[in-house]
Amino acid sequence: MKLSKRITGLTGGGSDGWDLFIKARGMIDAGQAVTELTIGEHDISTDQSILDAMHRSASNGHTGYAMVPGTDALRDAVAARLTARTGVPTSRDNVLITPGGQSALFASHHAVCDEGDVALYCDPYYATYPGTLRGVGAVPRSIACLPENAFQPSYDDIAAKADGAKSLLVNTPNNPTGVVYSRDTVEGIARACQEYDLWCISDEVYDTQIWDGTHISPRTIDGMEARTLVIGSMSKSHAMTGSRVGWIAGPTEAIEHLINLATHTTYGVPGYIQDAATFALAQGLALEEKVGAPFRRRRALGQAILAKQNVVGLVPSSGAMYMMLDIRATGLSGDDFADKLLEAHHIAVMPGESFGASAAGHVRVAMTVEDSAFEVTLQTLVDFAKEIRP
Ligand code: PMP
Repeated sequence: MKLSKRITGLTGGGSDGWDLFIKARGMIDAGQAVTELTIGEHDISTDQSILDAMHRSASNGHTGYAMVPGTDALRDAVAARLTARTGVPTSRDNVLITPGGQSALFASHHAVCDEGDVALYCDPYYATYPGTLRGVGAVPRSIACLPENAFQPSYDDIAAKADGAKSLLVNTPNNPTGVVYSRDTVEGIARACQEYDLWCISDEVYDTQIWDGTHISPRTIDGMEARTLVIGSMSKSHAMTGSRVGWIAGPTEAIEHLINLATHTTYGVPGYIQDAATFALAQGLALEEKVGAPFRRRRALGQAILAKQNVVGLVPSSGAMYMMLDIRATGLSGDDFADKLLEAHHIAVMPGESFGASAAGHVRVAMTVEDSAFEVTLQTLVDFAKEIRP
């Protein structure tokens, strides 16, 4: 039987960029030791206190259908967090709780794009973006964000692609680059959205992982609140990747329709997961800092290693759990470098090319192994780059 074009065309054909990851997993399955610095998954589990809250909630009976928009308590907690951190007054009616940021990205684009509408996104990009846009029937159009501009889009970069587009997806702090968008960048995004009448879908799932500078949400810029949907998640901030809990924050009318969509798709998020998330948010910054601390430490360790040489360049990574390394001095593509590093040293890093053409000649290193192993691994990568340099 024939399946829909929408689902069979979701990945756009060709390689999805995960070849190296699959090869590394194959080596591990075959019993080889591989240091995996590929995906954005903490090397700690969800805090015991959050798990205890989850267990208490489930044991107390919060196991039936939960409120589809989210529990009042969690919507209030997310709204209060956004108000406190951005200064934009946000209430429960501006918030829909979703099963993670990924489904929030899908729902948001579903809410703003009709079939065939052009949806803009920035390259390099988080792996699922183009597929998410295709999945709602939109036509993805990329904006190249080049290494010489620290991978940040300028107003001109966006304007050059904006004609006829409906939405712009941005991500700061950024996966894969670790770059935190500057005020100039965010103001350029806001100007382009207003001049070209674009919705801004702002993926802020790494908003608590800032090692340098400040996170500026496009929603805080004058005139943007009415056209911005912010994507948030407990995955990265609270090491709750498996709990699948996130949110969309935006104008009340959009949220009302998104609740309707949730009723017809996810039917909400389990109550005990929401109660655990409410508990986690109530712990405030201390818990978020505890979860982020290993990445902050490892970034400093990595910077010290990279400062001692000039073969591997570090993109000014100011946030998130990644370092993007410029390996162009080796003369290899990111794909070839990652492949040879895996063969020679059993170290798996993601080729820049898997995140789009703009990250060619780079590799992304996830800072997701314990400190001393991270240091040794990064030093090995640097020594390898020196060895193979022409
Ligand atoms: N956005 C970005 C930029 C991400 O890196 C991820 C996960 N790696 C997500 C969204 C989705 O995360 P989740 O669904 O776990 O909230």
